[in-house]
Amino acid sequence: MLKIMDVHKSFGPTEVLKGVSINVEKGDVITILGPSGSGKTTLLRCINFLEQADRGTMEFDGERLQLNAVKKKDKIRLRKKTAFVFQNYNLFRNKTALENVMEGLIIGRKMPKAEAISIGTQALDKVGLQARYNAYPHELSGGQQQRVGIARAIATQPEVILFDEPTSALDPEWIGEVLSVMRTLAQEGMTMLIVTHEMTFARQVASRVLLMDEGVIVEENTPELFFGAPQKERTRQFLKTLQ
Ligand code: ADP
Repeated sequence: MLKIMDVHKSFGPTEVLKGVSINVEKGDVITILGPSGSGKTTLLRCINFLEQADRGTMEFDGERLQLNAVKKKDKIRLRKKTAFVFQNYNLFRNKTALENVMEGLIIGRKMPKAEAISIGTQALDKVGLQARYNAYPHELSGGQQQRVGIARAIATQPEVILFDEPTSALDPEWIGEVLSVMRTLAQEGMTMLIVTHEMTFARQVASRVLLMDEGVIVEENTPELFFGAPQKERTRQFLKTLQ
């Protein structure tokens, strides 16, 4: 469904992505692990065109593009196939939970308001926020705000959801409820690419686990083998640092 090949990205003299390739099939739940600064966020941002890659190819539903030369109208069109869940939720402070979810539907998808309300409330119901449609972000816990972020992503019916460390800004007490929503989405067959430090989640939910380090993918494996019998010395080292 989505293939990225040989993606390179530098910021000034620093090469952050040094030729990354990933093949995403429908229904895959791919977790991307790795130390801080290894390029994980930059990779997700390149896939969503929040950053422009310097080199590399993307194939999305059979359409092939050079990532350093994607036209603005193609970016807008292709961005609709993905949704991004940010570490810090990125909600509008002056909009309610429902208005936050509706915004992309009305502005991005030009959806009539009544339909956006219907889809927005369904998405909030799905993440367990049926009682909080009209709450503002400051009235919600971190976990609830991130669930609004996930509702906003699923409302647009993307082909892939890109999660950028969705639980790392949360107090420990709210992490479980966000992971639980993500687990349900995974079980329902949603295709997901997840940058995370939640090893138990990766082990239990991922169809594939990737380790990134210094701008390259060091190992790609099933969760069983990644955690149980890793192929690479770098993976063993990484897993040791977590113990
Ligand atoms: P990770 O998500 O694995 O922690 P990032 O992709 O966030 O890694 O960052 C990788 C490297 O790229 C870091 O050294 C970071 O400082 C640098 N970097 C990321 N975004 C920018 C930017 N917009 N400008 C300059 N450097 C950046």
